[in-house]
Amino acid sequence: MLSGFISGSPRICGIIGDPIEHTMSPVMHNAAFEDKGVDYVYLAFRVKKEELGKAIEGMRALNMKGLNITIPHKVAVIQFLDELDHLADKIGAVNTVVNNDGVLKGYNTDATGFLQALRERGIEPKGKSVVILGAGGASRAISFILAERGSSLVILNRTWDKARICADRISEIFQSEATSLKLNRGNLAAALSPADILVNATSVGMSPDINETPVTSNLLKPGLVVFDIVYNPIKTRLQREAEVAGATVISGLDMFVWQGALAFEKWTGLKAPIGVMREKVIKVLQRHEN
Ligand code: NAP
Repeated sequence: MLSGFISGSPRICGIIGDPIEHTMSPVMHNAAFEDKGVDYVYLAFRVKKEELGKAIEGMRALNMKGLNITIPHKVAVIQFLDELDHLADKIGAVNTVVNNDGVLKGYNTDATGFLQALRERGIEPKGKSVVILGAGGASRAISFILAERGSSLVILNRTWDKARICADRISEIFQSEATSLKLNRGNLAAALSPADILVNATSVGMSPDINETPVTSNLLKPGLVVFDIVYNPIKTRLQREAEVAGATVISGLDMFVWQGALAFEKWTGLKAPIGVMREKVIKVLQRHEN
């Protein structure tokens, strides 16, 4: 809940999606606004697919400063915006909108947030061999930024066709190598053998199915970086088993906080209080887990 003072004319930010009930973004952003002492407020709105255009018109009419966009609107929102950042344009999906005096510009801070979380751990993607599980919206953002930064990619997905389309598009626009495989045990073992980094961008292991993992523990090894973008639970089974195997583990929480921090900076022009944002999300997730 908001404990700070809200004036009669705060800058309004928010998130739209459907469903939206379980989003951590309002607590994270309101904690950041409060910490910085700025007159901003962040709210969550459930917006149905057919109401998306009206919601974006509402953003203009209410002169809202910013929006985060989540499932199922990340692609469809583009048609209602005035400008696109070059990366969001290539990815074909937007998770952050900034209102610059009536001009709505779309960004993809899922991609840049992932990159920041990697770099925060001293890992540069250039020249790395990366295995990406999943070919949904998050996988697409991550694959594109890794390809842009010079990683070679193998994308594995349960529905192979989606992975193939993603890999083909990446090979078309970047110099990087991208191949695709159906997600099964044999392909996974073969792909992981020469890999530097494994990214889980499927929803496998996400609450409430916390005992599931997309990778059996015998495929995990020291020297491998395991980045599981699932952040609820805070520590997934994949992360726990990767730790035991001696791999370097990066949590989806880091990506979540960074995508939020980068959006915060675009809306406010201030440096985001990363520590405050991370602590707030951990506190709320822990409350849910207990
Ligand atoms: P999405 O577009 O719905 O894609 C889901 C992906 O998971 C698809 O590739 C799907 O495969 C795969 N999948 C689902 N169930 C599976 C199963 N039982 N076995 C194998 N594969 C399965 O979702 P998304 O937006 O990309 O999100 C994916 C995950 O990332 C979610 O857990 C989400 O919370 C998380 N996420 C985290 C952040 C962050 O900041 N940390 C940001 C965005 C998303 P098919 O194509 O075969 O259906």
